[in-house]
Amino acid sequence: MNTAGGKLTLVATPIGNLGDWSPRAIEAVCAADVIACEDTRVSRKLLHHKELQVDAEWISYREETEHALANTLSEKIAQGAQVVLMADAGTPAISDPGFRLVRACHSRGLKVTATPGPNAAILALSVSGLPSDRFLFTGFLPPKKAARLRFFSEQLNAEHTTILYESCHRILKCLEDALEIFGPARCVCVARELTKLHETITTGSLATVLPLVKKSSQKGEFVVLIAKLGYELNP
Ligand code: SAM
Repeated sequence: MNTAGGKLTLVATPIGNLGDWSPRAIEAVCAADVIACEDTRVSRKLLHHKELQVDAEWISYREETEHALANTLSEKIAQGAQVVLMADAGTPAISDPGFRLVRACHSRGLKVTATPGPNAAILALSVSGLPSDRFLFTGFLPPKKAARLRFFSEQLNAEHTTILYESCHRILKCLEDALEIFGPARCVCVARELTKLHETITTGSLATVLPLVKKSSQKGEFVVLIAKLGYELNP
């Protein structure tokens, strides 16, 4: 175990392209005493792709186990361990487990750092062509239609771009509900399979984007962005 002073490092991992894994991220993983990750099989595979050999303790860190493990892991850090936290893909603690461990470390005065990298929401915002000066990121919407409609109603007069994650099973329902609340002229972007082979970024009014998404494959991962009220693509 490293006795130079323990710390927690949040390590961002690729969201679709292995080339996006940074040298600093790899260095942190190789130096880890403990690797906490959602699915150890997914993270081991990532290391295997990069031909990395690590001699670390692996711990499965999921939403269900987060409460208990935040304590265990922060105790290991207090004793000098280099702990790395990884999500299956993207940035830990962003629509993924992590914040409780960070909070536990802060409350014990332990060092927390990160090797920043891919995040689907920020990437989608940057390539969307929608205003990026003010935005609200809301993660996944509730699965129930009534709750989704309520959320969209709250965003009707928004002065910011709204960013949300959506699953392939609900992408059409999500856009249909958005049409119901925002109307056909509201500008949106649907970003699918970012950084992957079938990356598709579709920006336009809901009236044009919804039929395009319906016509194309709905497999894969999606970020949906909704422009602020009154935003026009080609003023
Ligand atoms: N922590 C991750 C991050 O930093 O982006 C997000 C994890 S969240 C559990 C997974 C969701 O992120 C997916 O359901 C999808 O909405 C979005 N996502 C992840 N990878 C994506 C990609 N390559 N293209 C589009 N959306 C993606």
